[in-house]
Amino acid sequence: MKKLAIQGGTPARDTKTNPWPQWPVWGQEEEKALIEVLHSGVWSYNGPKETEFNKLFAEFTGVKHSICTVNGTVTLQIALEALGVGYGDEVIIPGLTWQATAATVIDVNATPILVDVLEDTWCIDPEEIKKAITPRTKAIIPVHLYGGFSDMDAIMAIAKEHNLFVVEDCAHKHGGEWNGQKAGSIGHIGSFSFQLSKHLTAGEGGAVTTNDIDLAEKLDALRNCGRRPEGDSLIGADKGIGDYGDDGNFIQSGNLRITEFQAAILVEGLKRLPEQNANRDANGAYLNELLNNIPGIHPLKRDPRETKKAYFNFAFRYDRQAFKDLSVQDFRSALEAELNIVVDACYEPLNNCSLYVPHTKPARYKLSDAYWKAIDPKRFTLPICERLYHDESVCLHHKILMGTKADMELIAMAIEKIYNNTHEITN
Ligand SMILES: *Cc1c(COP(=O)(O)O)cnc(C)c1O
Repeated sequence: MKKLAIQGGTPARDTKTNPWPQWPVWGQEEEKALIEVLHSGVWSYNGPKETEFNKLFAEFTGVKHSICTVNGTVTLQIALEALGVGYGDEVIIPGLTWQATAATVIDVNATPILVDVLEDTWCIDPEEIKKAITPRTKAIIPVHLYGGFSDMDAIMAIAKEHNLFVVEDCAHKHGGEWNGQKAGSIGHIGSFSFQLSKHLTAGEGGAVTTNDIDLAEKLDALRNCGRRPEGDSLIGADKGIGDYGDDGNFIQSGNLRITEFQAAILVEGLKRLPEQNANRDANGAYLNELLNNIPGIHPLKRDPRETKKAYFNFAFRYDRQAFKDLSVQDFRSALEAELNIVVDACYEPLNNCSLYVPHTKPARYKLSDAYWKAIDPKRFTLPICERLYHDESVCLHHKILMGTKADMELIAMAIEKIYNNTHEITN
């Protein structure tokens, strides 16, 4: 009788009797808030829930302004637009991220410059940023990926020295802290996603955060067909700064507004987030401690400057050498069978990503022959991103961190079980 679940053995976790925590989380609070919005008839357009959430999220993030939008893709786009990034500009981004980080750069007609990440945090390598800077560089988009945090000290210093904007892609980092400062409050603009998989969610949604009132006004207009901020829709807006009272647009844009239903869910979700984050942080730290004892398993490094962790996925590196040459693909399948939960690779590196293919759209992106060449993702080499993707990365949904210490012990045991029984698969 084989031991490993993938060979017909008993899984480490019987999810029929012992299911994983559910994501998303909701309760009567959400039900009540949704019904309230329904009955109010105010379903969108700078409603009270949106205003309330913007205020709460700005406070939570430690910034003056938060502005909701439809998702965490257009947040990046309007951030770049508000900063005046466009044709002729280069934007430095990590090669390991969701495609939106790059796609929005080409959507504002700028050029994404893909650089490699650090193997121990999976976040952008500041030394690679320095090498990539040219006279055309206008901005950097560090992505705080999975359980990692970009080295914001180094990045802000580089930005200052070269006069660059920093847009933090915080789609994975709601509530994460660097040196006591929240993700999204360190760069010029923070970009958040509230899509279903993210750890603050309304199904879809996004927000931009900033301390700069001029940027906030532009961002607010950019998500609202270019209209000037009106009434108290922009928390903290000083009537003296914008030229209010004029009904005309002050910037070209479209409708990127969130609904009141989403904002209502976000208000309730945000109340739950600090405790959820703290629980995931404690469980993640414990699990990493356990994983550190298993040969060939390399947890992400926790930088001492990361004062609060936030997890999107729980990720670690796998070394097949220690597992008698069991491939990472086979390891992930074996772990999936033990835990009854999806075990993924990290994102496809953007220099070879099936969802980042600018050359499929010449009518949109062939602005010139030079631009067409500049946006060819294949021109970038990203050895660490590629190694992580092909050979090492193991990623699990953050809901595995939402249970108990015993759950963490069970995950570590499942990995040890594979370690002790690789012969069942490799032979
Ligand atoms: C999810 C995500 C986005 C995009 O957010 P959506 O709300 O899905 O549009 C951007 N960047 C990163 C790193 C993400 O994970």
